[in-house]
Amino acid sequence: MTMSETTESNLPTVLAIDDSELIHRLLRARLHNERVQLHTAISSREGLEIARSLKPDVILLDLDMPEMDGFKVIERLKEDPTTQDIAVIFVSASNDMANRVRGLDLGAVDFIAKPFDVVELKARLRSALRVQHLIKILAQKAQIDGASGLWNRTYFDQRLAAEISEANRYNKPLSLTIIDLDGFKSTNDQFGHLFGDLVIERFSNILNSGRTSDVACRYGGEEFSVILPQTTATEAREVAERWRNQLANTTWHDHSGLMLTASFGVCDLECLDFPRTPAKLVAAADQAMYNAKKCGRNRVDVFSPTLIRK
Ligand code: GH3
Ligand code: MG
Ligand code: MG
Repeated sequence: MTMSETTESNLPTVLAIDDSELIHRLLRARLHNERVQLHTAISSREGLEIARSLKPDVILLDLDMPEMDGFKVIERLKEDPTTQDIAVIFVSASNDMANRVRGLDLGAVDFIAKPFDVVELKARLRSALRVQHLIKILAQKAQIDGASGLWNRTYFDQRLAAEISEANRYNKPLSLTIIDLDGFKSTNDQFGHLFGDLVIERFSNILNSGRTSDVACRYGGEEFSVILPQTTATEAREVAERWRNQLANTTWHDHSGLMLTASFGVCDLECLDFPRTPAKLVAAADQAMYNAKKCGRNRVDVFSPTLIRK
């Protein structure tokens, strides 16, 4: 059974896998005042199951357990992509050097001897959690486009697939907007590439200033996309109109009178025939965007199945 010391969901999670109830009780008492959510598993098998579903930040893993010892458990954890990044701290009554070395070689981050000293246990746990936090930040940074601060294409692809399956499952609305800056080649030619980069940065800030649930991405070059969960095409059009206006009304230092614009294509899941896939949604929003270009640029078009791309 999983036991949780606290219900605060944003606290780091720690899973203790140990075949002794006494150790569970001890850990619960010792970690009571630490800002962590403690879960416990009484066997290796249960521990692996909980690790997969809970994805804790740190596992305190008993080395000596019947059936499957801690070494086997860590091997399983490291084989599985969903659990391989969890920090594992071995907890063992044996102080044997060979065991410690083996544990570390198998990917454990630390070793704590039983019976444990409370101060040491907490310090080692905090240290592992600090490292895990940094790893999480780094992993997230790898999904952010450096120049614009928006999510990158890799993240966009994953996130769109996830949002679509959620919207399909719960029958919730979802819209996608694809945006392309107008005449951006000539902006670069006239004012220089550095100015072009500044425009991308300013426009990214506009796209990022919406609802926190919106997912704004740099799709490539001067193309952007925003996933709008729980939003119909009508609502998404209004949002896009606001972004369009904001860009068109932006004043550019050193280039007074310059007006820069973008074309927007909007589509919601509703418009698609089944099966409703990410590729279809992107293609439809893209088609609406091309229609906006064709009809004079600086406008928002919503996809309808009758749009014909020239
Ligand atoms: P349209 O209105 O049809 O979209 O015209 P356009 O000139 O924007 O279209 P095109 O796709 O021909 O040109 C896009 C230009 O955007 C070409 C490329 O040099 C520029 N661009 C793409 N990424 C960047 C970037 O990161 N920085 C800068 N400064 N320019 C970029
Ligand atoms: Mg383009
Ligand atoms: Mg363009």
